[in-house]
Amino acid sequence: MKQSFIIAVFLLFSIHLTSQSLTTSAELNNKIFKQIESQIEEVNTLYIDLHQTPELSLMEFKTSEKMASHLEKLGLDVIRNIGGNGVVGIFKNGNGKVIMLRTDMDALPIKENTGLAYASSVVMKNAEGIESPVMHACGHDLHMTTWLGTLTTMIELKKEWKGTIIAIAQPAEEISAGSNSMIKDGIFERFPVPDYALCYHVSPDYKAGEIGYFPGSIFAGVNSVNITIRGSGGHGAQPHKTIDPIVMASQTILALQTVVSREINPVNPAVITVGSIHGGSKHNIIPDEVKLQLTTRFFKDEVYQEIKEALLRIPKGIAIAAGVPEDNYPIVEFMGDITPPVANDPDLVMNAVASMKSILGNNKVYQVDPATVAEDFGRYGRTKENIPIALFWLGSSNHEQIEDQLKNGTKIPALHNAGFSPEFKPTFRGGVAAMSKTLIHLFNSK
Ligand SMILES: [Zn+2]
Ligand SMILES: [Zn+2]
Repeated sequence: MKQSFIIAVFLLFSIHLTSQSLTTSAELNNKIFKQIESQIEEVNTLYIDLHQTPELSLMEFKTSEKMASHLEKLGLDVIRNIGGNGVVGIFKNGNGKVIMLRTDMDALPIKENTGLAYASSVVMKNAEGIESPVMHACGHDLHMTTWLGTLTTMIELKKEWKGTIIAIAQPAEEISAGSNSMIKDGIFERFPVPDYALCYHVSPDYKAGEIGYFPGSIFAGVNSVNITIRGSGGHGAQPHKTIDPIVMASQTILALQTVVSREINPVNPAVITVGSIHGGSKHNIIPDEVKLQLTTRFFKDEVYQEIKEALLRIPKGIAIAAGVPEDNYPIVEFMGDITPPVANDPDLVMNAVASMKSILGNNKVYQVDPATVAEDFGRYGRTKENIPIALFWLGSSNHEQIEDQLKNGTKIPALHNAGFSPEFKPTFRGGVAAMSKTLIHLFNSK
């Protein structure tokens, strides 16, 4: 009797606890949604402003000042000019975890062709001094507004969590330079080291405000490679007196097709694309050299090592077969720092997914395939601090457009396309809601 009484009390108590935590989660959702609606019109105006004033990589002067002053208005400690036009904002809200939330800021040299009333008509000089139209064709304007919306929500709801937010507005993502320059400028030495780093990238492939996740490398690593095939030129009528680099370049390009198909384990995706071939000046002249430009994509470091080894071996082998002397072997240049894969931390992703589902609903948050595009966010997870990172796709397309694409195959303009036109409000609502709920849960969990 006594024992069943204790069990009954325990059951009642646990039902009470469960219903209380359910109400709390629902209440928190309501608070977050209320916050979003209270700021959405103002942020929409900011979105249109940012969309109409895009700036190219390394030239995000006005955009970064806008981000810095918005952070100041929100009450963050703001440090400007980190790694160029980078901005760091710090919001300390008692003892707890440190979480980094990142946006990028730069736009692309593309002439906007969306027909939108607020389309960009900006033309600016690029790094080489050549005038170019500029457009936010990668949605970084949406990243900035969603980022500010999340920060605003977190600060308005600061009673719900404890910890420190590190807000990062990063320049030069499109040239894969910004994360490197901010890391080199000491973001992890000068400011608190994050326990986690999070960000979004918008995607026209998914419905506005829905989330695509992958618990592992979601984006590929990338490196560019230049290959100079060197022969010995001469008269086109007397090929026997030459070593023809055009023929060697052709053989090289075909032989490179076997690297992914014959050398790399088929369960590991990789891409080798020769995007440019230049050589020769006239019909009847065999040139001395031909230049190739390649892009490579991979999801694992060891796959990149295999690609690298093949790119050093194959052109050289073809040169040897053609009788090229040792001092004239092909020159293979691997360009600068590689952009590593965006290697999402699986635990962090699945934690965030639970939070995101708890506010958006299970059907709005789904696992997607990794993509062979690249993003320099991956570097934040590759420093000695070993910070778990997670990048999520944030759907940005009109729901009817997606249905139409599924039913009739009507193409939605992709990222980096002149017609890319995301839907601001539903994207913002879903993005801010999912990220705010995730941050609050992460701050409150052990
Ligand atoms: Zn881009
Ligand atoms: Zn982008």
